[in-house]
Amino acid sequence: MDLKKIEDGFRIILEGLGEDPDREGLLKTPERVAKMYAELLSGLSSNEKEENVLATQFVEKYDEMILLRDIPVTSICEHHFLPFTGVAHVAYVPGNRIVGLSKLARAVDFYARRPQVQERLTTQIAELIHSSLEPKGVGVVLACTHTCMTIRGIQKTGSVMFTSKLIGSFKSNATTRAEFMSLINH
Ligand code: ZN
Repeated sequence: MDLKKIEDGFRIILEGLGEDPDREGLLKTPERVAKMYAELLSGLSSNEKEENVLATQFVEKYDEMILLRDIPVTSICEHHFLPFTGVAHVAYVPGNRIVGLSKLARAVDFYARRPQVQERLTTQIAELIHSSLEPKGVGVVLACTHTCMTIRGIQKTGSVMFTSKLIGSFKSNATTRAEFMSLINH
């Protein structure tokens, strides 16, 4: 990631806005903005490979649903470069392998820390669990508030966007799907 380039670019944005980038209050702003983007979009500069995020697995005979609810999500909408935040609910029914719960949260962050749309983020999380663990099924639901919608445009404060991706038994088995939905709405 080229922080200097982000700084230079943000100076140009300030100039474009008719601001004076050299006035006292703005002097360090391009540098702060560059560091902020580096943090919020750290997935772009991470060396971690997709297939390694859920690589630490345990063999376990457990064939009921495992659900991690209310995982905090912070991402950047790639259309407006404003944040969207909310929660992810991630569940799977194992084949014969499970992962630590912190790894599921890590999978959410891995994809969230880059320019995103909520639909793709939801799908990427579900497909990573599916390909890494070969479970019987995966269910991912994201509920997020988009700043690009709440502070500009139609300004619908408080509106929440829901997206879901269901794979395997979560898609084909109505009981599994109902259990998932009832647990996340509990
Ligand atoms: Zn947006």
